[in-house]
Amino acid sequence: QRVGYAVVGLGHLTLEELLPALAQCKKSKLVALVSGDADKMGKVARQYGIAPQNCYSYQTYDNLKDNPAVEVIYIVLPNSMHAEYTIRGARAGKHILCEKPMANSVKECEQMIEACQKAGKKLMIAYRIQYEPMNRKVQEMVRGNAFGKTKIIEATNTQNQGPPDQWRHKKALAGGGALPDIGLYCLNTVRFLLGEEPTEVAAHQYTTPGDPRFTEVEENMLFTLRFPSGVLANCVTGYGSYTSKRYRVQAETGWIQMDPAFSYHGLRLERAHAPEGTQQREQVGIAEKNQFALEMDHFSDCVRHNQTPYTPGEEGLQDQRIMEALYQSARSGGKPVKLKSDTNKLDAF
Ligand code: NAD
Repeated sequence: QRVGYAVVGLGHLTLEELLPALAQCKKSKLVALVSGDADKMGKVARQYGIAPQNCYSYQTYDNLKDNPAVEVIYIVLPNSMHAEYTIRGARAGKHILCEKPMANSVKECEQMIEACQKAGKKLMIAYRIQYEPMNRKVQEMVRGNAFGKTKIIEATNTQNQGPPDQWRHKKALAGGGALPDIGLYCLNTVRFLLGEEPTEVAAHQYTTPGDPRFTEVEENMLFTLRFPSGVLANCVTGYGSYTSKRYRVQAETGWIQMDPAFSYHGLRLERAHAPEGTQQREQVGIAEKNQFALEMDHFSDCVRHNQTPYTPGEEGLQDQRIMEALYQSARSGGKPVKLKSDTNKLDAF
């Protein structure tokens, strides 16, 4: 029996990626929709065969509690709404899959975790990269010291974020600019590859003066993460330059690179480990799979077999803690901020 999903928010990600991915899932299926736009929802419902009684507005959202076909609520709203809809969803007795970033503050993340615990429901943050086969292969190589010890990771996620009039450029809705939206991929993926938590971070923030897109949120952030093993990560994110979505792991006897690493499709894994001076890159062929389908089917497995998801609420909370430290550092002109490492990352699922 597939696990039934209600998807909340019919924006770009839902319409272009998640609903088509649900159709490819083996363990998950779409059973309900939640939207503030009844006309749009009617069209989407007809396209995906969802009956009118399984369509909800933000006002009738809490009535999901009376719909036994819905086991999971997938929250795909602007970041500032994640906490409220997670908490209300847990109170309605549903498991929650919530888009990244988990929320806009550590406090909200803690409230979300508490609400799900109290309701006896699971909470997963939708870090699709952690379910994607090539990135998982890199994790295996890094953690297995395939090319000796990892020394440095460089990660970049930049794109031109488009016109000023959008929620991503409003601090109250987005929480921040490039960092929580796309810089988060650098941060989360580095933590995922290494399986350890940074103990010191530092950041610099730059915004083009007069650019109407960046009156409330930052355009660019450069940040470093220092890990207990000695690994240093150097990360770059920006909302005002051409797309780059890549990282490279520098280890003692080789490097491993994903370029692109964070896109939905067309990911490419390369490595070089021939003797110095003869360096040749080689591509590692791994069949592409739909990251969103893998992620949802993982959560459905957890629901069916009563397991903790690989990216639970605590994973989102930890990123939020680090992002708050990065902003603190940026505000002080780049002074390093020390972090306590108090989460235990699961090794595998
Ligand atoms: P979007 O702007 O395309 O859609 C947002 C939806 O929320 C729209 O349907 C909009 O009508 C609705 N909404 C409700 N209240 C709103 C309000 N006050 N202001 C604006 N919109 C409101 O955004 P999106 O790109 O679909 O992003 C949604 C969430 O998904 C975000 O949290 C984002 O970070 C996340 N996301 C994740 C990925 C990924 O790869 N995992 C990719 C894109 C977006």
